Amino acid sequence: MTSFSTYNFSGQKALIRVDFNVPLNDQFEITDDTRMTATLPTIKKILGDGGSVILMSHLGRPKEGPTDKYSMKHLVSHLKTLLGDVKVEFANDCIGEEAIDKSAALQAGAVLLLENLRFYKEEEKGDKAFAEKLSHLGDVYVNDAFGTAHRAHASTAVIADFFEADKKMFGLLMEGEVKSAEKVLHESQKPFTAIIGGAKVSDKILIIENLLQKATDIIIGGGMAYTFWKAQGKQIGNSLCEDDRLEKALEILAKAKVLGVNIHLPMDSTIADKFAADAQTTNCESYGIPTGWMGLDIGQKAVADFKEVILKSKTILWNGPMGVFEMPAFQNGTKSIALAVAEATKKGAFSLVGGGDSVAAVNMFHLADKVSYVSTGGGAMLEYFEGKELPGIAAIKNS
Ligand code: AMP
Repeated sequence: MTSFSTYNFSGQKALIRVDFNVPLNDQFEITDDTRMTATLPTIKKILGDGGSVILMSHLGRPKEGPTDKYSMKHLVSHLKTLLGDVKVEFANDCIGEEAIDKSAALQAGAVLLLENLRFYKEEEKGDKAFAEKLSHLGDVYVNDAFGTAHRAHASTAVIADFFEADKKMFGLLMEGEVKSAEKVLHESQKPFTAIIGGAKVSDKILIIENLLQKATDIIIGGGMAYTFWKAQGKQIGNSLCEDDRLEKALEILAKAKVLGVNIHLPMDSTIADKFAADAQTTNCESYGIPTGWMGLDIGQKAVADFKEVILKSKTILWNGPMGVFEMPAFQNGTKSIALAVAEATKKGAFSLVGGGDSVAAVNMFHLADKVSYVSTGGGAMLEYFEGKELPGIAAIKNS
């Protein structure tokens, strides 16, 4: 596989698939530019070598072709601010004459941003002819969009077929994501603890089943935990529960036993009389919650149990909060687990936090720089840990 870091981009036009799918407010101002800043090192390395950069991305979910609301033109001025002295141009289409002319005329050290790829339905269909048209715009293809790596779209996977093996590679962001994910899933030092939380068991079944083959310990917290308690015949009051997943939960517990994987459920919970920030709260055993009450966070005993497991771990994967961390009254579990992961990391463990809400949680508690890696790709990371091959990775790795 061609290495981005050692490649010399001098005189080359690099066509980069980025994930600039940033949130915009009604005035088309970017409200969170994390996805743009995350790819700056890749862009800067190419420009620094004396190459030029053509950026392509999707923005939102346009249904009917070109729509002003989803135009990438709204990103141009912020991209200019982020890049400082660099000349940034914009093409009103991602293929066609204007894109061809502007990319052909692009000088070394300059950047061209293409219009939204999803203005063409061919993008999501993974259309070959569309991918080929895009491929003509650059000499080298760089994929730096981990967030869309689980999609076999024209610009994320199919396009790679139109470049020789030494002319396609991951960008720095994608490389970092892939390396940390591989480190956890395939090269984990034991004990390997997976912490899985969030609302629904159904969303996390595949990931838990795959991790049963890899992890030493699996901690299950958040709303999902109550389905596991109820499956064992326990009283969970009005806590979140997926009744159609009770059998699956039992199956997972049985499989874990056979495989020698320790499953840890929260022994106690902070319970509330309603799903609200100002609810009445108290603490009780998670397997004996009275009717009318619901578990909205793991309790102190659970925190102590989980912490003990986490601090013994050499590899940690964390996906999903331990409770309704958006409300201060139910934040303690998630915060304590975040602190424990940070402490284990300080002691030498490799920790990867992935998936929207756990990432939001480590950011909320200002612990993002205290864990080994925070993944930017929610859905892609989940599918990777479910054991699926991601088309965006395979397109470059397997060629
Ligand atoms: P997910 O997207 O599946 O990772 O779920 C994240 C959401 O789960 C967050 O918005 C949390 O508020 C919610 N959550 C976590 N624990 C609980 C719980 N015990 N009861 C209800 N919702 C929860």
